[in-house]
Amino acid sequence: MQSETRTTCPYCGVGCGVIATVEEDGRVGVRGDPDHPANRGRLCSKGTALGQTLGREGRALQPEIDGRPAGWGEALDTVAARLRQVMATHGPDAVAFYVSGQLLTEDYYVANKLMKGFIGSGNIDTNSRLCMSSAVAGHKRAFGEDAVPCSYEDLEQADLVVLAGTNLAWCHPVLFQRLQAARRARPGLGVVVIDPRRTETAAAADLHLALRPGSDAWLFNGLLDHLRREDCLDLAFLERHAEGFAGALAAARASAPSLPEVAAACGLDEAEVATFYRWFARTGRTVTLFSQGINQSSSGTDKVNSIINCHLATGRIGRPGCGPFSITGQPNAMGGREVGGLANQLAGHMELDDAVARERVMRFWQAANPARGPGLKAVDLFRAVESGRVRAVWIMATNPAVTLPDADRVRAALRRCELVIVSDCERHTETTACAHILLPAAAWGEKEGTVTNSERRISRQRAFLDPPGEARPDWWIVAQVGARLGHAAAFDYRSPAEVFREHAALSAFENGGERLFDLGALQHLGEAEYAALEPVQWPVPASAPGGTARLFGEGRFPTATGRARLVAVRPRPPVHRPDGAAPLVLNTGRVRDHWHTLTRTARAPRLTGHSPEPYVQIHPRDAAAAGVEEGGLARLRSCWGTALLRVSVSPEQRPGAVFAPMHWSAPYASAGRVDALVNPVTDPISGQPEFKHTPVRVEPWVPAWQAFVLARERSAEMEAAYRVVVPGDGYVRYELAGSEPVADWTAHVRAWLGGGGEWMEFEDQGAGHYRGALIRAGRLEACLFVSRDGRLPPRTWLAGLMALECLDEESYRGLLTGRPGAGQADAGPVVCACHGVGRETILAAVRGQGLDSVDAIGTVLRAGTQCGSCRPALQALLESEGVRRRAG
Ligand code: SF4
Repeated sequence: MQSETRTTCPYCGVGCGVIATVEEDGRVGVRGDPDHPANRGRLCSKGTALGQTLGREGRALQPEIDGRPAGWGEALDTVAARLRQVMATHGPDAVAFYVSGQLLTEDYYVANKLMKGFIGSGNIDTNSRLCMSSAVAGHKRAFGEDAVPCSYEDLEQADLVVLAGTNLAWCHPVLFQRLQAARRARPGLGVVVIDPRRTETAAAADLHLALRPGSDAWLFNGLLDHLRREDCLDLAFLERHAEGFAGALAAARASAPSLPEVAAACGLDEAEVATFYRWFARTGRTVTLFSQGINQSSSGTDKVNSIINCHLATGRIGRPGCGPFSITGQPNAMGGREVGGLANQLAGHMELDDAVARERVMRFWQAANPARGPGLKAVDLFRAVESGRVRAVWIMATNPAVTLPDADRVRAALRRCELVIVSDCERHTETTACAHILLPAAAWGEKEGTVTNSERRISRQRAFLDPPGEARPDWWIVAQVGARLGHAAAFDYRSPAEVFREHAALSAFENGGERLFDLGALQHLGEAEYAALEPVQWPVPASAPGGTARLFGEGRFPTATGRARLVAVRPRPPVHRPDGAAPLVLNTGRVRDHWHTLTRTARAPRLTGHSPEPYVQIHPRDAAAAGVEEGGLARLRSCWGTALLRVSVSPEQRPGAVFAPMHWSAPYASAGRVDALVNPVTDPISGQPEFKHTPVRVEPWVPAWQAFVLARERSAEMEAAYRVVVPGDGYVRYELAGSEPVADWTAHVRAWLGGGGEWMEFEDQGAGHYRGALIRAGRLEACLFVSRDGRLPPRTWLAGLMALECLDEESYRGLLTGRPGAGQADAGPVVCACHGVGRETILAAVRGQGLDSVDAIGTVLRAGTQCGSCRPALQALLESEGVRRRAG
């Protein structure tokens, strides 16, 4: 019999509800939950492929101590003993935890309590520091508390949506679909995108401001002054509910005194800046949604406040269709903020440097060893590991050896660290490779708890599978260590519901309404009520058990005066600027179908086809100057590291800037760790690193040969200077390039792929070509194409042959040419991941059948009809064929 479980997607901060169905044979199907308010049944390409990402392969299944398997009892005893030893010798600040927005709120709460209340240090920070800590700091400066005012519905109720530093179509696809649906229903809803790149989000906008990287604060400061000049201020709101306007305005006028000066600072046309300002000024219902493009900056906090200032000055906050709206990258970045996962926070939205709050929380916890003040933020924390100030680090559910800026240095620091404990569901990451003690954690679908999405909505994650091997939930692992450190009573949790009740009770403890974060109505949930908890937006105080959709509607803010604060923002350029040695600015980010360091999404073959290789996108002018070509390989160098990436030449990239995704790590790419290049400068207030602005040099890398391989099995032998592994459906694809010529490809290939079976081969040594195919019992086992000049056949048709049990005659004939025979076609690179529809198939249908809309493509090819993530790409293909834009 099938069983169905309502749970929440583990990827981005949209926080979509999903229904997981476990079939009798153990297969898991996933569909959108029509009753979840975040998505109403929609899912993006990543969400719909969740069922393909489950299974034991690659999982950490058993505790390990110094590389040998161990039982839980021994592993937990060893963790406690070694931590105690470090604390006894070097004090509590020699210990640190580095946690993750992938953790559930209950996991996070217990880890934070152990560090700040019982180990006695503030040294717990989270990878959410890397994606949204500037928004946290900006909220606290403006509102007095880290509180997102808006709901997703505000995007649909607005008349103007400004998307600043966010590629919503790729990074928060379901929210983008909601916005597009609202535009189709109400064509008057305008969209402005502020982003140096012409992303799919920008292509769908009414106005795209491709501003100079790092210049956002000049743009919003100029807007603030424009609003004053045009008499668009809400003077009553400013008078009754805000303070600091005069200082904010003076700073704005000093930095952005006129439209021409703003346009010059931002590298924009005056006319387009004027259009943006006019639209903002005249549109009462305006939402400004912002994300990593604003936050990941050495002045990210100021940029956030420059946005909030404009909303406060116009009173556009706390009302339907209005507000500054920070959207988070991770599924539970918000939950982590609520329990104090950042080194400067306490649980329940209280501050570690507030002595009264500290005393209150420690009294509530009956803390044995209270932290005395804030701990180390992420970048500083790993610097302290490097210097030996931190001697023991426990990393939970994250991969900092890949994702921190200056990542090679972080990896080296971990390799030298006295004690590295890693709890993770993945066995083979660059961080688990540094672990002295590895603790297998339960993964999505195997554990119970809650997450909070970007609109403050708390949803349940529910288990529908048993954890494999010895894997256990993180809250349990941390509580067991807490007990072994001598604090059994404080960590005597029997269920995640018990942890949640304590978290909710602390939020309401001595809270007379001065702290917005209040889950008082949820503090007595029984086990069954917790199990059945419906999505709810905090605050959920005892007086409002149904939750709160929108904040600040009454104009009261949790500051000392009850007023919101406008902040004087004095824009400053990024710390490191391009020069002759590194003339281009590197911007890093995500691609549509991948997540973090590929540990989950690379398991779903249908997600690997859209962006199969790590790449650098570069403007044609810069490509010509650097001597790199479309499809070639480039070496990127910065002061901090290097990477080897495939070149994508595109006018969508702003001249002077390049973009590279952050996902690839050593198991999938030999030299694609882009964060190794990124400068480790941080915002002085938030501690967030400047991932969007690293000066780099781009150089051509001309290999002696390039190749690709399709093989049924992964081969450890297949080493090359450039090596990318692309998991497919029943096969693995390798993209390879080497710097040394290979004298005998026949021998080389046998060493890589083994012998046996029938080999078909063709070699032209003069031209530098080799092609080989291994066939067993009529089935294609492997094929390999090598070329000196990099010209290789398309992969899609050949990959399709790997799915055949027996090659037909036509396929045999075309095999070594790499080209489809008569009546066969190469589908081209994947556009629609859900239905596996390729670019060439779509273009052929558009041309051959006169398709003129995304819906028409869907009717004929099904592309874009399931999750909808590819609809912007379909629109772009139509436009490339001369079809005019409609809201897709
Ligand atoms: Fe998951 Fe996609 Fe929804 Fe984000 S938008 S929560 S990745 S289904």
